[in-house]
Amino acid sequence: MSLPNIEIDPRSGFCPGVVTAIRQAEAELESSGPLYCLGDIVHNSAEVKRLGQKGLITVTHDDMATLHGVKMLLRAHGEPPSTYELAVKNNISLIDATCPVVLALQRRVKAAFEQPGDCQVVIYGKAGHAEVNGLVGQTRGEAIVVQHPEDLDKIDYSRPVMLFSQTTMSIAGFNDMASAISSRMAPGVKMEYADTICRQVSNRVGHLRSFAAAHDVILFVSGAKSSNGKVLFDECCSVNPHTYAVLDPADVAALPITSAGSLGVCGATSTPRWLMEQVRDAAEKLFT
Ligand code: SF4
Repeated sequence: MSLPNIEIDPRSGFCPGVVTAIRQAEAELESSGPLYCLGDIVHNSAEVKRLGQKGLITVTHDDMATLHGVKMLLRAHGEPPSTYELAVKNNISLIDATCPVVLALQRRVKAAFEQPGDCQVVIYGKAGHAEVNGLVGQTRGEAIVVQHPEDLDKIDYSRPVMLFSQTTMSIAGFNDMASAISSRMAPGVKMEYADTICRQVSNRVGHLRSFAAAHDVILFVSGAKSSNGKVLFDECCSVNPHTYAVLDPADVAALPITSAGSLGVCGATSTPRWLMEQVRDAAEKLFT
């Protein structure tokens, strides 16, 4: 079997927010370990495992309530105010790696919630996602989270609406949601919206579609919990039906890819480069 052209997408991989959080964790572990991390530092289990081997201890919010006097990293997704209050109460020193883009969005959500009037803050995003929890926390839990058309019934259309987006949602999905809300508003009631989608994700879409279309087969490497991984995987599928989701190199052997003349490896903003390289190497082995 002849070896196909195998290319790793040069623009896939960690976004600046994730790079900074991982750098901060590694610097802290090297200088003074042990370090706790509230939630997976990135939605990629292979990278979480790698950092775990260096001493990063991933804990839940319930675990945090039982910890005292430790050092804890807050990941790029951001946290609600209650997390900072708990840290003070339990004498936990925080290394805050909240991405500046998320921090700015948290401030906007808070300002919209606190402005005088009867405005409802609505967030287009995934209920329960860490970033969304951090945003909802800016509104004392009152923000309304919408993702699907059936969620639209949660909104009171006789009151003003201010719509924001979780940073990793798709622009098309946000625009559809904004139109759907706008069409339901009662006459004369104000609806505003702010497209707060991170361009680190959305700017990759055009490039990724071209990359996916240029290869016979695409191996999309991403963790199961990654929001932008789902968005970017769907984009690849839309232009290349021979796109396969890959968690790690072990998945590659079972894929029907040996007739491909060219093969592209790409991933999400939470996918480490080293993992894409391992997937490329696993694919190469199938042809040798
Ligand atoms: S996707 Fe954007 S907002 Fe989210 S962590 Fe990365 S840089 Fe920050």
